[in-house]
Amino acid sequence: MPVLPELAAALAGGRIEVVDLTAPLSSGTPVIALPEQFAQTARFELTELSRYDDRGPAWYWNDIRTGEHTGTHLDAPNHWVTGRDGEDVASIAPARLVGPAAVLDLSAEAAADPDFLLEVDHVRAWEAEHGPLPEGGWLLYRTGWDARSDSQERFVNADESGPHTPGVSPACARWLAEEAPVVGLGVETVGTDAGAAGGFDPPFPCHAALMGSGRYGLTQLRNLALLPPTGAVLVAAPLPIVGGSGSPARVLALVERG
Ligand code: MN
Repeated sequence: MPVLPELAAALAGGRIEVVDLTAPLSSGTPVIALPEQFAQTARFELTELSRYDDRGPAWYWNDIRTGEHTGTHLDAPNHWVTGRDGEDVASIAPARLVGPAAVLDLSAEAAADPDFLLEVDHVRAWEAEHGPLPEGGWLLYRTGWDARSDSQERFVNADESGPHTPGVSPACARWLAEEAPVVGLGVETVGTDAGAAGGFDPPFPCHAALMGSGRYGLTQLRNLALLPPTGAVLVAAPLPIVGGSGSPARVLALVERG
């Protein structure tokens, strides 16, 4: 029994909604700010080639400049030293980029504490209510941080002690890599790790664990509040940059409306 005609009919009839989890890409899109001794990523930029003028009378087009890790984007395993021999972004099997989404809402906790860390117990509590994390799926970690994504300053939330944004504890990162059945972790913040994670042991534990286990990260998602805890299907579409460590991505979710 074919299922795609049913899917197409449900999409056309509005019973399945397509929710855009992607932040718009512009020169104002926030980017990560690393300590100053390290190389920094580029903001997104458009350079106009022609706009129905002498340079091209009937057409408008631009060149783009962007970091691989600018805006809503995917981290490939080779992004981190722990995954240096792993997949580049072009090598990821497309089937890994479509899968069920488990949405964990820790936005109240993150509102109370911008350094909030997801622990294994939070995931266990979610599983007790909603069932096990989905095999081959995505853990989407809602913190409410998408409300800040129009402002570099509020998004990165740095003070004299560095950035303060929610993330994942070292123990939970290890658990995600070693025991969770998901292919990746999606977050609303500028990276999968907490703002303060450069000072954790190990530093940036989420990147180290996810990339080292062949998993993926998705960052700067928005609209997770529009998704149910279970039942949505995530579609992540990074560009197949050959040898790339990641790519800006359009990320969509299919959501059944009852
Ligand atoms: Mn990244």
